[in-house]
Parts: sequence; structure tokens; C-alpha cells
Amino acid sequence: MTNQLRADGTLRHLLTLESLARTDIERLLDRAQTFVRPLGAKPPVSTALAGITVANLFTEPSTRTRVSFELAAKRLGADVVNLEVQLSSRVKGESMLDTVYTLQSLHVDVMVIRDPEAGVPDLVAANVAPHVSVLSAGEAHVSHPTQGLLDALTVRQHKKRFEKLGIAIVGDIRHSRVARSAYHVFRTLGVPDLRIVAPESLLPAAKEFAGCARHTTLEAGIKDVDVVMMLRIQKERMGQVDLPDADRYFSMYGLTPERLEHARPDAIVMHPQPMNRGIEIASDVADGKQSVIRDQVRNGVAVRMAVLAEVVGSRAVTVEGGR
Ligand code: ASP
Repeated sequence: MTNQLRADGTLRHLLTLESLARTDIERLLDRAQTFVRPLGAKPPVSTALAGITVANLFTEPSTRTRVSFELAAKRLGADVVNLEVQLSSRVKGESMLDTVYTLQSLHVDVMVIRDPEAGVPDLVAANVAPHVSVLSAGEAHVSHPTQGLLDALTVRQHKKRFEKLGIAIVGDIRHSRVARSAYHVFRTLGVPDLRIVAPESLLPAAKEFAGCARHTTLEAGIKDVDVVMMLRIQKERMGQVDLPDADRYFSMYGLTPERLEHARPDAIVMHPQPMNRGIEIASDVADGKQSVIRDQVRNGVAVRMAVLAEVVGSRAVTVEGGR
């Protein structure tokens, strides 16, 4: 794995949360918090990234992540270009690295990459010029580091001390990059009671999620937790998984208001979206008063601003004519 940190300890790339120290994560969360504004207030804007170009290179569909990376970069004053699946020259047979070298020649400084193939963000990071940063916006089922950070920021805003929390991650754990990044970030932040809850066929391999309690019933899995994190069923990554049909899945694993009563009365409910309402979560819960799902979206922009600001760091100069 390419080293994500520079010699001075700041972030150069963000490919995974796995190797980051608690201090690195807390520094990013603290910075992200400075970019959070209440709904209806003007979002923060700055020129910190003036003269910097950010390319969003997405070869898998995305709504929130792509838009929030774009807004984050623009609010910091960067130029942004978006390349999507059909536009990407990869479908013409040009390799990912050739696309990346082209962008590099066009003076792109930060490449934000989402890809269905494991290892692509790391491959790109290992091959770009020293001044270029690579940020993963979702790597296959493996990781989604900015999602992990925005999830941690959301929990921190509501619950303060990670060392006291019970968190249940529920649903399609096996195929979920969101679950894997959540696991790494919450372990690193010291969450003592981290559980995964899924039907047997959607639980991960035994060697993964070390230290988590595994549950196959929702009621027991969320009993007395402070945070219930629901996941989307990842049909696109499934192949031949033995799964109950939608109605049966909802009757066993769908989060309804009645089921939520097994968690603590002040428990918060999260979901990375897009949601399958009526399959993994009831609308009453998704839109209910314990839901912080919309906070997650708002925090996504703040977290991506913090990450962009850190990876660009002192390279962002506003002197006309060059850097
Ligand atoms: N948006 C998240 C992701 O890209 C969650 C999901 O798609 O289920 O992984």
C-alpha cells in the first residue's frame, strides 16, 4: 500500500482509513467541524485551493459523493473537472493509468477516484507525480474512507465520547465498503462495543471485522446500542448470494420503529444512502426523529473540504502565474 502520509505527518493521499492513527483522524474531524454550518446558513467559502485543479474520476455511479467532492473543492476555490463512466476513455480501451497521466499533463493536482475494481486508487497513487494527491471516493467493496470520516463526525456530533459507545452495523456487511471503513474508524477511535448484524449469507469472512460481535438477529444485534448504522443491500456486488426476497428480508432485518425500541431510547440511526426504503429501513425510521441521515450528507461536504485542504496544504498558493 502506498504511504498516505508525507514526511511531516500530513496526509498526501487518502486511500484507506486502515493505517491512519487516531490523531490523524481526530485532526481531520476537527478541521471538518470548522466547515459545518446549520441548514439554511451560508456554506463556508475560501480561496485555500485557488489555482488547484481537482478531477473527479468516477467509473461507478454516485450522487452524494460526487456532488459533495465537487462542492467541497469549489467552496475552497479549486477548479473542478468531472469525468464519468461513459465519458471515461477506459471504455475505449485506454488504461486507467493513461487517463491519469493525461489528467496530470493537464495540471490536475488532486484525483478523486471511484472504481469497482479493488486496488485502483492505490495503483494510481503509486504512479502519479510527487505533487499529485489521490483520494478514494469508494473502492469496490474494500473501502470508502471519506464516508468513514463523515460517519465518525456525525456520531461525534451526537454522542461525544467514542469510548463509551455501542454501535451496530446492520445489513449487507459482506459487500459493503462503508461497513469496512466504519469498522476501521470506530476501532481506531476506541469504540468498545462494535457489532455486525446480518443474515449468515451477508456476514463477512470470519477473519474480517476482528473484535466485533456477530449477530444474525436484528433485535439482539441492536440491543441497547447508541448507534444503529443501516446499510444498503448491494445487489450489484452480489453474484449468487442466497438471500430472502425483499418482503422477507424486511420482516427479518428491516429497521422499523418497533424494532428500533431495542436500541437505547436516544440511539441515532444512520444510513449512507441510497436507501432501499421498505427493504432495509422503514420510511418512518428513515425520516423519524432519531434519524441523522441528512446530517451525514451535510457532513460529507465538510469532511471532503477538510481532506482536500490537508492534502493540498501549503501547495495552494494564490500568487498569480504559478506555483
Ligand atoms: N453510497 C455508498 C457507497 O458508495 C453506499 C451504497 O452505495 O450503498 O458505497
